[in-house]
Amino acid sequence: MIAPGAWLGLLGGGQLGRMFTMAAQSLGYKVLVLDPGVHGPAGSVADEHIVADYLDPKALESIAARCAAATTEFENVPAGALQFLSRHCVVSPGAESVAVAQDRIAEKTFLSSIGLEVAPFRAVHRLEELDGGVAGLLPGIMKRSRLGYDGKGQVRVATVDEARRAFVELGTEPCVLERLLTLELELSVIVARSRDAQVSAWPVSENAHAKGILDVSIVPARVSDAVADSVRAAARRVAERLGYCGVLCVEFFVMRDGRVVVNEIAPRPHNSGHYTIDACVTSQFEQQARVLCGLPLGATELHCPAVMVNLLGDLWAAGEPRWEHVLRHPRAKLHLYGKAQARPGRKMGHYTVLADTVEAALAVAMQIKMLLTSDTQADRLKTA
Ligand code: ADP
Ligand code: MG
Repeated sequence: MIAPGAWLGLLGGGQLGRMFTMAAQSLGYKVLVLDPGVHGPAGSVADEHIVADYLDPKALESIAARCAAATTEFENVPAGALQFLSRHCVVSPGAESVAVAQDRIAEKTFLSSIGLEVAPFRAVHRLEELDGGVAGLLPGIMKRSRLGYDGKGQVRVATVDEARRAFVELGTEPCVLERLLTLELELSVIVARSRDAQVSAWPVSENAHAKGILDVSIVPARVSDAVADSVRAAARRVAERLGYCGVLCVEFFVMRDGRVVVNEIAPRPHNSGHYTIDACVTSQFEQQARVLCGLPLGATELHCPAVMVNLLGDLWAAGEPRWEHVLRHPRAKLHLYGKAQARPGRKMGHYTVLADTVEAALAVAMQIKMLLTSDTQADRLKTA
């Protein structure tokens, strides 16, 4: 066990890293952040921030020398950095798990191999591979195998010609072409698996996306017990079969006929698990620190239903949003990530509304959302 007081290293400096840092600090740990950005959300709350590239040898050496353990907050961290650190300190998640989640081809192949259903897909490495036999995947989505997030690096395609164009547009890099499914809803499950193979899962979250970016998470998801049990079992299976150590999110599609398909996995805490900070006994970030340090897992139960809404940079179009819309509700919790620049589509913060029922939480959350957005629209009209 790594006792409180020790230093933990964190690769990456975004909001997930900021919330991890705060949770680890409240358990008494010190956090050393490696992030090339100067004013990142995590660096600004860290005990120390090294501004350098993730593969910078001096930076990695100082983490290795100082930290008892290290983790990452985004899946695109270079595997080499994790491999280097794992020779000197505890690293979780492991480089092999991260490698699977970094690559959609490897990810879908792995998921199918453990008996989970994924959307029908084909790996595309060369343009010629689109010449025959892809009709069954259309209309579809061409997704870059690596480095996609928040709907970036993917293009919807209806014909073989469009698929060819999309492949070129995406840089002639390895891609997957997957069939566009008719979704009833989207779910996610966050699980933690400890070094001694204990697994705990949080309640299922129901997620709505806008323009490929998570917009709202509703917990518990409004699905039957059978669906909730099956996605929780699937998420647990992913963690076990990966030999995973840490916090992991598995995203699911629920189809019109009730079938459940795995969309993708994220080897880290996830945006759809932010509700755990305010609504659960143990947050996903505290659990990540617990796993990293070999502490016992905390309970994952829900205190009450919760709805989380993301705050994107678009809301800042006419200046700072009027936070009183959120703050005047005593059971709404505001989280801002301290990002200096608000750009459209950029995740700037979120709020979580707690209530006795999902319906009540959703009603307040939507009322707040409407007031925040209508302010922006009204101000836009005034300045137009
Ligand atoms: P990202 O890594 O950007 O989160 P995803 O593969 O999860 O990429 O896709 C983002 C969103 O796009 C999903 O949450 C879903 O709303 C939609 N989407 C992705 N793949 C499909 C599909 N095969 N059929 C229907 N919708 C999809
Ligand atoms: Mg996704």
